[in-house]
Amino acid sequence: MTNPLLEQDWLPAFSRIKPEHVEPAIDALLAENLAETKRLLEQVDKPDWENFADPIDVLDDRLERVWAPVEHMNAVVDSEELRAAYNACLPKLADYATEMGQNRSLYLAYEDLAEQTEELDPARQKALENALRDFRLSGVDLPQAEQARFKEISSELSRIASKYQENLLDATNAWSKLITQVDQLSGLPESALELAAQTASQRGRKGWMLNLEFPSYFPVITYADNRELRREMYEAYSTRASDQGPDAGVYDNTEIMEQILALRHEQSLLLGFNNYAERSLTKKMARTTEEVMNFLQDLAQRAKPQAQLELDELEAFARERYAVEDLESWDIPYYSEKLRQHRYDISQEDLKPYFPHNRVIQGMFEVIGRLFDVRIAEASGPVDTWHPDVRFYEIRGSKGEVRGQFYFDLYARPHKRGGAWMADCISRMKNSLREQTPVAFMNCNFTPPVGDKPALLTHSEVETLFHEFGHGLQHMLTTVDCPAVSGISGVAWDAVELPSQFMENWCWQKEALELISGHYETGQPLPDELFQRMLAAKNFQSGMAMLRQLEFSLFDFRIYMEYDPATKGRIYEILDEVRQQVAVIQPPSWNRFAHGFSHIFGGGYAAGYYSYKWAEVLSADAFSLFEEHGIFHKDTGESFRTHILETGGSRDAMELFVAFRGREPKIDALLRHSGINS
Ligand code: ZN
Repeated sequence: MTNPLLEQDWLPAFSRIKPEHVEPAIDALLAENLAETKRLLEQVDKPDWENFADPIDVLDDRLERVWAPVEHMNAVVDSEELRAAYNACLPKLADYATEMGQNRSLYLAYEDLAEQTEELDPARQKALENALRDFRLSGVDLPQAEQARFKEISSELSRIASKYQENLLDATNAWSKLITQVDQLSGLPESALELAAQTASQRGRKGWMLNLEFPSYFPVITYADNRELRREMYEAYSTRASDQGPDAGVYDNTEIMEQILALRHEQSLLLGFNNYAERSLTKKMARTTEEVMNFLQDLAQRAKPQAQLELDELEAFARERYAVEDLESWDIPYYSEKLRQHRYDISQEDLKPYFPHNRVIQGMFEVIGRLFDVRIAEASGPVDTWHPDVRFYEIRGSKGEVRGQFYFDLYARPHKRGGAWMADCISRMKNSLREQTPVAFMNCNFTPPVGDKPALLTHSEVETLFHEFGHGLQHMLTTVDCPAVSGISGVAWDAVELPSQFMENWCWQKEALELISGHYETGQPLPDELFQRMLAAKNFQSGMAMLRQLEFSLFDFRIYMEYDPATKGRIYEILDEVRQQVAVIQPPSWNRFAHGFSHIFGGGYAAGYYSYKWAEVLSADAFSLFEEHGIFHKDTGESFRTHILETGGSRDAMELFVAFRGREPKIDALLRHSGINS
């Protein structure tokens, strides 16, 4: 019996991969990789690129090529059996990573290799630098006792970070409210009422059931006329997993947050950093903690006057039209939506008929083709997939050569994870043992076609498509041969969103909209009058939105940078200070935002939440060069392709940006695009 995951075919045999294949394949590969690494370390006397680094790269690649389809199928065709098989592999993969990361002989072999750097090309040099850095960040260099403590902290951290997430999830699930009279829900859109009715009937109740999941919470806080209901849900939502609110103390994350801060701090000191924020910057483009703080504070200072004006305007609107005097936190989204509709009279629904999916996709390929001198078309011949909706495409260069390939899985369906994302299927690699071009998974959750009407996208879905395709282009157009730094691998964390946010800009350009829009009945491109209203509404309350992101970023960065074991985390003290400094809206004192800020306590954004804004500066500034030269300017497109998309993580992110833009990034373009005058 053969295991389809272990076949050496070019593309995975999705239709034949079954849950029972997953664990045996991973077990076999991990054992093989460990044995092969050991053998290489024993047999290779003087490691060089061909006898050592290339074989190790092939081992890593083999694992990636088996795990990528499993991870992907777990996300898009989930089943109980597959999920169990997937979860069973996670600790094995984590142990394997630790074992490799703390393997001293492996580390020394890479150091040996690094001594010959003068003979290496820049990509290999960068790959080596990254590898050595990661070994050190895994504690490979530490004395034995400290190494043991380091390991202990790592495993404790992974346990409590996951406990933080569980508390948040349990607290979210614990609260619900049954509404028996529909007039209590006046203002809610039809889709939200349907969802609430469905939730009630699933629990065997009559009426409408609200809960704290975002699709239920968001419409209430935005549209519900019932102020008391908004207040009640706001309180339940903003005190989840804390010492406040309806479930005070039950799923409380307070202790865990303190522990996470303390342990990350201790581990950073072991590695020789002053705090966790410094350590976090080792994989980022920003160089010093001071640079990050100055960046955030400068933006806040510029955005604040406008945010204050926006709030004043909102307050005046609520007072004059609705006789509401003091706007509380649970009133702001509600009256903001009223003001937005009053002023711009435009909704996503108005735009949809102009964006049938075929037109949008062909138009996007055309935009990308013009910009980067490539051709995108569906591949000829059958390709094995995981679902009949899936299509397989090729990107070819100007000489007709295949640069990369991708699967398009665009529609929502049961058992598919929500949202949109790009993921690697195969990474580019070219060395003494192997040569391969990249393959990507492009995933969205658009509404599928209904009847004989084509699938129609909202404008924000069109933006999402462009965004993910930006990530995809960086993965697929790479010309780097070394897999550790080809595509998006090895790109500084705070620069990863550069190509994606960059591509979104074309969705707001008339010249590009002519290519990507066309009424599904008449073929007419988006009328100018609609386009103008869309543009006018684009920056509604952009100052307030920016300040919110800056508040989160400053809070995240400061609690890690200022951590002191003597005073402990000072979590809400620091949050209050940040709010006094940058916010225009002060939430009630019982708000426990940090208890649910899973990006930084449960996820990978600790002392890195600022990355979103950082990359936005880069993408806006990069786009401004197209504004100067024309949005389809050939040389500028080629320059972006060669300096950013093709080169990816193989060189320092700042160096590459400067090579493209001719200077270091400036924030002016972001401010201008966000409509912030400063
Ligand atoms: Zn993204």
